[in-house]
Order: sequence, then structure tokens, then C-alpha cells
Amino acid sequence: VRYLAERKEIVRFAKVMFQRNMTNAVGGNIAVRVDDNKALVTPTMMAEHMLYEFGPEDLLLIDLDGNILEGTQKLSRETPMHLGLMKMFPHLGASVHAHPQHVMVFASTDTPLPSLTEATRKFGTIEPVPYARACTQELADNVTTYFSDKGEELKSHGLAALLPRHGIITLGKDLPSAYNVLERTEINAWCVLMSKQLQDNPVLKRAGIDTKTFDPKLFNGDSFC
Ligand SMILES: [Zn+2]
Repeated sequence: VRYLAERKEIVRFAKVMFQRNMTNAVGGNIAVRVDDNKALVTPTMMAEHMLYEFGPEDLLLIDLDGNILEGTQKLSRETPMHLGLMKMFPHLGASVHAHPQHVMVFASTDTPLPSLTEATRKFGTIEPVPYARACTQELADNVTTYFSDKGEELKSHGLAALLPRHGIITLGKDLPSAYNVLERTEINAWCVLMSKQLQDNPVLKRAGIDTKTFDPKLFNGDSFC
């Protein structure tokens, strides 16, 4: 098979993504550009049937119109979402779609996810794209339209958007970068949700510890990472 190193990297990241609860058996997929007009994509049922245990040869080599050049598996119905982005941004190296458990709280309620951790500051508030059903061309179009004015931003760091009631999509210059956006966003979502536990927390009260209110001044200036 062609692009063996890229294939092995996808296999490795997909497994880690599942093991670290960054997605679930319901779904998730990865696309990695290998040249101007070609990408490797994960096959359909990678989650439900394979539980992210698959080999380099299970990946599909496709052109950006979705024609299969190499591979015997079937394309995921979420492929058009990835291809629309790859076509729009020649500098997009990889995109990851996932269902991370804490991000799902925001996605499923169509709620923007503000940045609380320094590691997510550069992404700002992660917004939901307009709703469309999973696996439809309409969802692919909504995702592409949402990111259409963010090409310049993508040159300096990764990007993410929520898919209402469904999950998240992250973009990066390569797979490690797109995957990293996913982990940063998921831990930030967890922090936003869990921060409420500190309010009127009896253990903190007994210890005489005041819960600090968030100070936006902490976030003046660019973050270093
Ligand atoms: Zn999905």
C-alpha cells in the first residue's frame, strides 16, 4: 500500500482517541491529506464494528472528490465533511471528527463552549455550526461554510467547531495538531462543567478556602502555547 507511514500514524491516533474517551463506539473518523488532491480516510464502521482496531490497509486512499484509489472497505458517510474542508483549504493537513464525552454536553445542547484553560485560549469560544442531520451533505456544507472565513487562522493554529446534537470536528496542519485540538477542547469542556462543583463546595468551605472567581486579566496577552 502507498503512504504506509501516514497510514500507521492514523492507526495509532485512532486507537489512542478511542482509548482516551475522545470518541466512542458510536462514531468518529479521521482524514489526512497525503498530497494536493489525495487523502487517507478511515472507513465506515471503524467505531461500531472495529472499535478502532484496524490495520493500515483498512484505510482508504481517495481523491478529494471521494473516488477510492486504494482500499476495499467502504467510505464513511461523514467523508464529505472532511473533503469539503480539504478542498477549501490547501493548507489543511488533517481533520478529526469525534464524540468526546464532555464536549458532547455542549454539542448535544447546542451550547457554545468558552475557553477556561490557557491551552484553549487561542481557539476562543468554540461555536456550534447550524444544525443538520449526521451524515448528510447539508451538515458537510454547514461545516464548510462555518470555517470558510477562518483560513488565515488555520495557518497559525488548529480550529474546532461543534456539530449540534452530535459531536465535534477539529482541523490542523497535520494529524498530531488536529488531534491535539480535540484533547485540549475535551479537557476544557470538563473544566467548564466541573468548575460548578467548586461553588458552595462543603469541603472547601470547611477548609476556609474561597472559590476564586475567574479573572479575565489572567488572559491578557497571547498564551505561549
Ligand atoms: Zn459522528
